[in-house]
Amino acid sequence: MSSLQFDNISVDEISPGFCREKDIAVSVLRLDKIHPVISGNKWFKLKYYIADALALGKKTIATFGGAWSNHIVATAAACNENNIGSIGIIRGEEAASLSPTLLMAQSLGMKLYFTSRSDYQKKNIPDALSDSAKNIYFINEGGYGIKGAEGAATIAGLFSAKQYTHICCAVGTGTMMAGLIKSSTLSQEVIGISVLKNNHEQQAETINLLTNDEKLKKFFINHEYHFGGYAKYTQDLIDFMNDFYKTTGIPSDFVYTGKLFYAVNDLIRTNFFPSGSRILMIHSGGLQGNQSLKPGMLIF
Ligand SMILES: *Cc1c(COP(=O)(O)O)cnc(C)c1O
Repeated sequence: MSSLQFDNISVDEISPGFCREKDIAVSVLRLDKIHPVISGNKWFKLKYYIADALALGKKTIATFGGAWSNHIVATAAACNENNIGSIGIIRGEEAASLSPTLLMAQSLGMKLYFTSRSDYQKKNIPDALSDSAKNIYFINEGGYGIKGAEGAATIAGLFSAKQYTHICCAVGTGTMMAGLIKSSTLSQEVIGISVLKNNHEQQAETINLLTNDEKLKKFFINHEYHFGGYAKYTQDLIDFMNDFYKTTGIPSDFVYTGKLFYAVNDLIRTNFFPSGSRILMIHSGGLQGNQSLKPGMLIF
């Protein structure tokens, strides 16, 4: 997409003083710099689905998400760029005023259909779409699937793998993490920080996207930093995000990357990482979701 700035992606070394004392280095892969709204990792997860839809001659792509979904707005943008129609099947009743996320998706040409939470959970297709469903290319919520993971694996082309002992990322569906495992070297460990509470299927869902050889690589999901669950937060998390911005100049989002940065910081302090570790945190974007917070909570 012409407005996506892949050249802006950088690897920023941030290692705070307490890390250097432990001989630990921390860097951030800034996928957030691609675009203010179209979240970094979503673009990578979508690219092979879009290619597949184009190869199959599909004229429309449909996918699922909530009112603040990074995946919804990224799908709208990717379809717009590729001249494919897009449909968003949105969880919950239509609100009196649409979220900025949905307004943006709509302005990119996405047609929105609202479904009840129970229909959404069953992945029911709205009646209005049932006749045309066979002509539509469906993408899972969050881009979950092998093609999504293969797309996410190409994130590794943006950094020099041999410099890092640990690759850390936030985990929703596990698709990005699966991609990072695919592209990891045998001497690296991929650590996922779950942003969901007690989601014990996440591990299996991530592993399902791996080949047998990839399953032998080093990785695990940490479940200790969900802050109450998906899109939940505490003042402690918000304070951390503000401090992190003050010291590094890097903005984060409260749903994914704020929790990731908090977790890695905490794990370094509590000596989880051995001395000599070279950690890369993936800033997977998502900043647009901060608009759902009260103005003024974040200083960026
Ligand atoms: C969607 C998203 C994730 C999680 O990616 P999964 O592949 O679903 O695990 C992480 N960070 C941000 C900013 C996201 O938007």
